[in-house]
Amino acid sequence: MTEVKVAVLGGRGAGKSALAVRFLTRRFIGEYASNAECIYTKHLCLDGRQIHLEIYDPCSQPQRGKLSLTDELHWADGFIIVYDISDRASFAFAKALLYRIRESHIGAYKKMVETSVFLVGNKQDLCHMREVGWDEGQKLAIDNKCQFCELSAAEHYQEVVAMFMKVLRNITSN
Ligand code: GDP
Repeated sequence: MTEVKVAVLGGRGAGKSALAVRFLTRRFIGEYASNAECIYTKHLCLDGRQIHLEIYDPCSQPQRGKLSLTDELHWADGFIIVYDISDRASFAFAKALLYRIRESHIGAYKKMVETSVFLVGNKQDLCHMREVGWDEGQKLAIDNKCQFCELSAAEHYQEVVAMFMKVLRNITSN
């Protein structure tokens, strides 16, 4: 059994819980009432391998100035950084998170980021209210050598699964 730990980080309201719950339960839960931090677990089979997955969802985020992430950086094998395409502030927060991850992996950074950080622009169904362009997300991902996609936790179940599977494959192929 391979153990994999993934932290889902991003600004409040970006859709961290929605993404994690969608992946784990197939359901989109409109108002996921939790202010406590959660670790969800799931057993799954990936390419014939048994995986014990832990997903950390902090549910709330520290103030930007207090972005230490020390515990998460020690704990996680990979990160999903989520922003809301209809909320520019959440994009700025995602940028700060990527910067923090990058500076903590100086030396090991290249390998770490190329393999196990995924930037997700969530709420693609709200593209009529878009504040962050697809190309801006793509550029941020290229600058930080991580993978990128836009999707909707509300409407794109298959894309959510595909994104989590890419994260797991990247981590387990290390
Ligand atoms: P968190 O604070 O990052 O964990 O965000 P939540 O998962 O609690 O989501 C915040 C709000 O955004 C909730 O009202 C969700 O229903 C909503 N939400 C999450 N994902 C989507 C999405 O893909 N599309 C839309 N339209 N709303 C979403």
